[in-house]
Amino acid sequence: MDSKRIFLSLAEQSGFERQYVQKALDSSWITSGGPNVDNFEKELENYIKEGSFVTALNSGTSAIHLALILLEVKVGDEVICQSMTFSASANPILYQGATPIFIDSELDTWNICPENLEIAIKERIKGGKKPKAIIAVHLYGSPYKVDEIQAIADRYGIPVIEDSAEALGSSYKGKKCGTFGDFGILSFNGNKIITTSSGGALVANSQHIKEKALFFATQSKDEGAHYQHSQVGYNFRMSNICAGVGLGQMKILEQNIKSRRSINNFYREIFHDLKGVTLFEIVNQDYFSNYWLSAILIEPNKITNKNRESLRLAFENANIESRLLWKPMHLQPLFEKYPYYGKNVAEELFEKGLCLPSGSNITMENKNRIKEVINTFFNN
Ligand SMILES: *Cc1c(COP(=O)(O)O)cnc(C)c1O
Repeated sequence: MDSKRIFLSLAEQSGFERQYVQKALDSSWITSGGPNVDNFEKELENYIKEGSFVTALNSGTSAIHLALILLEVKVGDEVICQSMTFSASANPILYQGATPIFIDSELDTWNICPENLEIAIKERIKGGKKPKAIIAVHLYGSPYKVDEIQAIADRYGIPVIEDSAEALGSSYKGKKCGTFGDFGILSFNGNKIITTSSGGALVANSQHIKEKALFFATQSKDEGAHYQHSQVGYNFRMSNICAGVGLGQMKILEQNIKSRRSINNFYREIFHDLKGVTLFEIVNQDYFSNYWLSAILIEPNKITNKNRESLRLAFENANIESRLLWKPMHLQPLFEKYPYYGKNVAEELFEKGLCLPSGSNITMENKNRIKEVINTFFNN
């Protein structure tokens, strides 16, 4: 195969990134924080919602970590987390010395299951520990059941950290993802819908909390002329160079969402009458997904040996990248010893699921190659 590799998810440039980076270099703002960072935060605030308060950070992982710090999660505390997710959702719980409590997915949204969430909360409270936070994830851009999860969180008075790393531009009932939880988090890693090379953001709902976030993210310096510290500090701030890339990327955010949604449409047309394959789609019109990644479930067939792994290999043979879904956290060697509430929905999704090439740079020629692999695979 000498055809060019088709990647799962690559970031495209708008062409404006250079200008902002150049400005940073010319003005010697080559540090963490600075004018590009301030402007990037303003643009994000305007985009997701007036009245949300964004702190730009060096990664989405730092944003989740910072949310836990601000919620005063400490050694021995328990934090609930969706099992079906990338490990970055759960790692910060361990950074704080807390215990993750994992929850299964439900089939509609593939995200945290409301029933199992409530069962877990009740049982943990009975055991003497009320969970300090709930980390819920909008997987592959598809919103979780926001109303149901929020109602449960409110009933027990537990704050929600909304992991919106994959869902910038997605919305629920017309409101943008990232604005629902007590904290929202965004990621601008290289494979996300827009990138700052590496970066993330914490979304808070007051200026006061944003200021606290900034304090911890920039080494917890107390007021005063000298370096005075009374609390542990962190070096989490986004660099002014990275924010320059982010400002350039904001110009193509809407276009990227359009392309990714149109790729999802392309897969819908291919798979709508193919038995044994279902495309992951939103439940109803309350949900709007950026379709960061398009994913399918394949019913494994023992006779024909068609399953998600054999399709992945067929793509690989044609120099096309596809990838298995996130392996649930409760099945990971690192996390398997922690409590888990649910059945085998997440596990089944993992056993049957495959993420397909979804980058906004996928061309007509790419689509033809992808379609050919799929047709050959399922018609033989
Ligand atoms: C990418 C991602 C993160 C982490 O973001 P980074 O910027 O890579 O640290 C967290 N959660 C989910 C669900 C992600 O996909």
